[in-house]
Amino acid sequence: MGRREEPIRVARSSMPPFEEYAGMIRELWESRWLTNMGDFHHRLEGELKQYLKVSGGLSLFVNGHLALEMAIQAFGLTGEVITTPFTFASTTHAIVRNGLVPVFCDIRPEDYTLDPEKLESLITERTSAIIPVHVYGNICQVEAIEEIARKHNLKVIYDAAHAFGEELEGRGVASFGDASMFSFHATKVFHTIEGGALAYGDFSLASRIEGIKNFGIMDEETVAQVGGNGKMNEFQAAMGICNLNHIQEEIGKRKLVSQQYRRRLAGMPGIRLCPERPEVKHNYAYMPVVFEGFSKTRDEVFEELEKIGIYPRKYFYPCTNAYQCYRGQFDPEATPVAQRISREVLTLPMYADLPLETVDRICDKVLIVNAKNKNFCRSR
Ligand SMILES: *Cc1c(COP(=O)(O)O)cnc(C)c1O
Repeated sequence: MGRREEPIRVARSSMPPFEEYAGMIRELWESRWLTNMGDFHHRLEGELKQYLKVSGGLSLFVNGHLALEMAIQAFGLTGEVITTPFTFASTTHAIVRNGLVPVFCDIRPEDYTLDPEKLESLITERTSAIIPVHVYGNICQVEAIEEIARKHNLKVIYDAAHAFGEELEGRGVASFGDASMFSFHATKVFHTIEGGALAYGDFSLASRIEGIKNFGIMDEETVAQVGGNGKMNEFQAAMGICNLNHIQEEIGKRKLVSQQYRRRLAGMPGIRLCPERPEVKHNYAYMPVVFEGFSKTRDEVFEELEKIGIYPRKYFYPCTNAYQCYRGQFDPEATPVAQRISREVLTLPMYADLPLETVDRICDKVLIVNAKNKNFCRSR
């Protein structure tokens, strides 16, 4: 019913206890070291390396997008980069802003990640890399992708913005490919207000990557690269240290929310949820639901939820290859699965302190049969 309450949005930032954060940043009033790789920066870097099981290097950034943009520069990519259009603006923009051409590969209908079977035919002599996306935390077909990459001598940089802390058969998700970008934006499972990181297997890249994020400055008199400013500051790093202290509880609470959604929605005719792979340690970052032959369209469900103060997101719609800024450059119909899913998907509210009763309220509204769709059976 149209209860007047706080709107329920798709995400809500988790916060550490106020005193915990305040206690940490108090030190900054003493040290006056606010940015440029201070103590908190180094501490968070070390803690994340351990948590993410990174064996090579890890560099922190002011946000995830710059981590990806600067990774593309650091790896010296050229020409064409194969990626997917079913992602956030950042992935495609990072390629284009480096002066490279994105080539769009379609996604798998099962989990919306890059379809390796459609990958090889897109490779040309200009291709230098593949940037797949672990979308919604669904880990890509890493083996198949990397086998093709090896065969054609291509770099693989994962957009792992959604996959923080995930593992596949006990291996940290950051161990796949040449590098992985994580986003620590306020709406993500783990956040530093804004922030991000690049994890990479080859530790010898560390000085190049650290250089690019600090204007290419190597020492007081040497500017060796045309870098930018991608540094994470100490207030961000302190927030990260605090949030990392509570990450297990955070993911545990998300799991309960996810389970409640699944109890209510799994197996319903016309509703498709992401697969839960037993070999994957999940982070429960998002709750995407695909309406495929459901009694209502995605847009109808969206509007009905909005009427009761619940604000899901059409995430990802439109596909990046259909953006206004790219009009005429790409053919969205060339990636028909991505195009279809983007019209059918809705990501429902998902965050650690989302009450399970609210999940029920959302599911009730999703499942209720419209008067005009009465012929469609509701089976519970
Ligand atoms: C959040 C996100 C990014 C960018 O992260 P920011 O930290 O916001 O810059 C990139 N790719 C995907 C898929 C994301 O969801």
